[in-house]
Formats: sequence, C-alpha cells, structure tokens
Amino acid sequence: EGEPSSSVPRQRVTAKGNNVPEALYTFAELGSKYNIPSRLLQNLEASGYKQPTGIQAHGVPILLEHRDLAAISPTGTGKTLSYLLPLFASLAAPNSGSNPEHGRGVRALVLAPTRELAHQIHNECLKLAQGRKWRIVLFSKATAATLADKNVRDKVDIIISTPLRMVAALQSGNLELSNVRHLVLDEADRMLDPEFLEQVREVVAACSHPRVQKAVFSATLPANAEKIAMDMLTDPIRVVVGLKDT
Ligand code: ADP
Ligand code: MG
Repeated sequence: EGEPSSSVPRQRVTAKGNNVPEALYTFAELGSKYNIPSRLLQNLEASGYKQPTGIQAHGVPILLEHRDLAAISPTGTGKTLSYLLPLFASLAAPNSGSNPEHGRGVRALVLAPTRELAHQIHNECLKLAQGRKWRIVLFSKATAATLADKNVRDKVDIIISTPLRMVAALQSGNLELSNVRHLVLDEADRMLDPEFLEQVREVVAACSHPRVQKAVFSATLPANAEKIAMDMLTDPIRVVVGLKDT
C-alpha cells in the first residue's frame, strides 16, 4: 500500500504464492535493493517513468528473484516494463564470448500473439537498451534468415516473436532455444487459447534449460487459460491487479 501518484491510477494488488518478495514502490529501490546496472537505471529515468505501477511494483521483484509469475493486470498498466526491466537486469550485460554463460544462443524470449504487438515490445526494449550493444531481434522471415549463421545466432540476447514464426524457425533447424533463461508470454489469454496453444507448447518445450524462468502476462485470464498457465509454471506467484473504482 503506498504506491499511487497523480499519473498512475490507484490499483488494488494481490500477490499469492510461496515466499512472495516484497513489493517495490520506487524505482530508486531497484538501485539500493537489487544490483541493477546503472545504465539501465539511467535509461529508465530517461524514459520518463517516475513511479512503478502496481504490476511493476509487485512483478519486478518477483522476476528479479528468478521466480515464475502469472500476472493479471488491466490494459495500460505497464505490463511491458514489468517484464522487460527484470529481463535486462538479469541478463546484466550483452552476450559476449568471454562469459561462459554467454555465446550459446539466445537467453531471453518474449512471445506475443501479433506482429504489431511484438513490434511495440521491441520498441520498449530499445529504450532500455540505449547505450549498450544488446542484440535484440524482432523476429520475422528476414531476421530469421540472418540467424541461419550460427555465429550471429549465438550472440543474440533477446528475441521477440509471434509463436508461429518461432515454430517455423525451430522446424527449419536454424534456431536453438536451449540457452533461454527467461521466457515471457504476453497477452497470455490469447497465447493459451486454442488458436496458439499448440505452437506455444512447442516453443515452451524447446526452451529446455533446467533453470528457465517463465512468466505470463495478461489483462484477463479465463479459468481454462489460467489452469494451463499454472501447469506450465514452476512454484509460481500469481499477481492480480484491479483498478480501484474511480
Ligand atoms: P499494458 O501492457 O499493461 O497494456 P503497456 O506496457 O503497453 O501496458 O504500457 C502502457 C503505457 O504506460 C505505455 O505508454 C507505457 O510507456 C506507460 N508506462 C509504463 N510504465 C509506466 C510508469 N511506471 N509510469 C508512467 N507510464 C508508464
Ligand atoms: Mg501489453
């Protein structure tokens, strides 16, 4: 209870699960409580975001502590930043040959139901990526082709894609997802709908790293989609944000 500012609507938040991390009511706490790269904090400030929204206050610490998350928060409440900020913080630095954890392929994957949405997420990524040589790929037929070269492919940090495009790349044999440590499903109500479910399952299965963190974000999550989500996640925390009546 301590969030709202004039620009951020008042929100009621519930977080349920084992050992729920404490929420974070200012972005400054990111620097003091978590070891966030200073360049990332600068980029956040440059984006003009003054105060975390409800889903950011609760979701960011959960993801920073490498927990799985099911986040349900209305449209326009800043879900994108709530997963991108911890993503950049966890990746810490662009893929490089010198870190033994790096150089083995893409480390983060964000799936979205439409190309348009993937494009918007990519734009948000670019704001946080300012000033560092992150390799962020908005997946398309053309960018997928450039990844046919293993030397290029192995150095990618983040891929943003629709499920169909990702499945096509997996089937072509030109993509490895076994080094993915962070997997996000945005607009999960659509992603877990029969239209996309089989493709999503195929991609999730390809993210075979034993410590892959999974998060689903949605404005709403019908009971059947929620059950599928909870089965996909490991010891998840479920955060629900409702707007207080205005
Ligand atoms: P959602 O995915 O929940 O619909 P978005 O991530 O698209 O919401 O964000 C909605 C808008 O709010 C965007 O224009 C974004 O730049 C802005 N926004 C995100 N976080 C904050 C914040 N902490 N303070 C002010 N504006 C924010
Ligand atoms: Mg969104």
